[in-house]
Amino acid sequence: MTPNEVRWCCIGFKSAYTIGPHRGVNAVLTSRKQPLRFALHFRPVEPRDLDAFRASRLPFETSLVSEMVIVYCPWCGEDLDKKYHKQIAGLEALHPLVTLELPDLPGPPRSTE
Ligand SMILES: [Zn+2]
Repeated sequence: MTPNEVRWCCIGFKSAYTIGPHRGVNAVLTSRKQPLRFALHFRPVEPRDLDAFRASRLPFETSLVSEMVIVYCPWCGEDLDKKYHKQIAGLEALHPLVTLELPDLPGPPRSTE
């Protein structure tokens, strides 16, 4: 499967996923184990500016990325594992897995259909 063959749940998720890591909100795949794990990443700084940002020595602590695990699409409500579990190759062709060292949380119950 190529990135062009991914069948997206909606334009909001497609936009947030395909844009890749950048300043603002990104949707990312964080685990390819079943059920798939997705998250929203919130970045205050463009990745290309991280070295300059770190060198700026702010007088307070801050986070360079914040993560919110998502099970359902925040734009249309689609179950993300159900929608994308057969499309991993297309998603990973767009961006490699992005992980932030999180504990292994249980996913939603899977249908046995
Ligand atoms: Zn959606």
